[in-house]
Amino acid sequence: MNIRATIAVHGGAGSAKYFINEEHRQRYLRGLIDAVKAGLEAARRGNALDMVVEAVTVMELDGSYDAGRGSVLNLLGEVEQDAGVMWGKDLSIGAVAAVKHVVNTVRLARLVMERTDHVLIVGDGAEELAKQFGLWVPATELINEQKINRYNSLIKDLQSRYRKNVELARKLGLIGTVGAVALDRDGNLAAATSTGGIILKLPGRVGDSPIPGAGYWAENGVCAVSATGIGEFIIRAMASLRVADLVRSGVGISDAVRRVVDYVTKVFGPGNIGLIAIDHVGNVASAFNTEVMGRAWSREGMDKVVIAHYPNDPFP
Ligand code: ASP
Repeated sequence: MNIRATIAVHGGAGSAKYFINEEHRQRYLRGLIDAVKAGLEAARRGNALDMVVEAVTVMELDGSYDAGRGSVLNLLGEVEQDAGVMWGKDLSIGAVAAVKHVVNTVRLARLVMERTDHVLIVGDGAEELAKQFGLWVPATELINEQKINRYNSLIKDLQSRYRKNVELARKLGLIGTVGAVALDRDGNLAAATSTGGIILKLPGRVGDSPIPGAGYWAENGVCAVSATGIGEFIIRAMASLRVADLVRSGVGISDAVRRVVDYVTKVFGPGNIGLIAIDHVGNVASAFNTEVMGRAWSREGMDKVVIAHYPNDPFP
C-alpha cells in the first residue's frame, strides 16, 4: 500500500477569551499552518517522529502558545514546562517535566528517549541534560513584561494558593498547549505534546503532557493521540491510551476521540479536554468539550492545510 505522510496538530483547547484580539487569534491559527508545513517538510527526509518534533518546535518558538517561548507562569511567576514524545514502532518514550530554561522542550524530551535509558526526567536533572545538549537558555528568554502583567492581575484575585489553581484554569479556559500526531510513509506513528501547563499552578505541578497514556500515545497499527485541557482530569482518565484501546478494539478514530471526550465530560464535567488523533492508515480526527481548539492537518500531495477553530468547523 502506498502511504502518504500525514500530520495533524493542535494549539490547545480552551476559551476564546485567551485571545487578546483578532490579530492574536490569526497569528495563533497561522502558527498551526506553519507547524503542519514543517511536519510535512520533515517527512521528506525523516520519519513520523521527526514530523511531530519539527511541528511542535515551530509552535514552541512562535510565542503565541502556552509552550516554549509562550509558556504561562506558575504561582511563583516562573516558567515550568512539560513535554513528551512517543515513537509508535517500538513504544519508545521520552519526556521531561518542570523544566525552566528551555525553549524547545520537545527536543529535550526526544533526547531523553534517544540518548538515555529513561522515560521521564524532571527538574534539575532535565535542566542538566538541557545544558549538556545545548538547549539551556536563561529564564529571560521565556518571561516578558506581558506575562508578568498578566500574572500580577491574576494573582491578586487568587483566594487560596493550594486549592483554587485548577478551578481558576478551568474558569479562564486558557489555551495554548501544543501537540502533533503523524503517520509516515513507512506506516510509523508518532505523537508529541508540549506545554507550559496551567497558569498559576503550584511549583512542581506536573500535568498530563509528559505522562504517556495521558497527554499522548503512539502505537503502530493502532493510532497516535495528543491531548490538551486540564491535565489533572486527563491523567485521571488516561485519555490518550483510552483512545488507543478503543481503536484497538475496532472503534473508528473519530468515534474513539468523541467517546473519550464524552466520557471525560460525564465524569468530570465540561471544559477540560481536547484530543487530536490519527489512525494507522492516516484518518485524522479531533474532539473537545471546550469552546475552541485550534487544529490543522494535511498530507503529502494535498495542496492545502485544513484549519479549524470552533467545534463545527469542518475537520478533517
Ligand atoms: N494539559 C496541559 C496541562 O494540564 C494544559 C493545556 O492543555 O492547556 O498542563
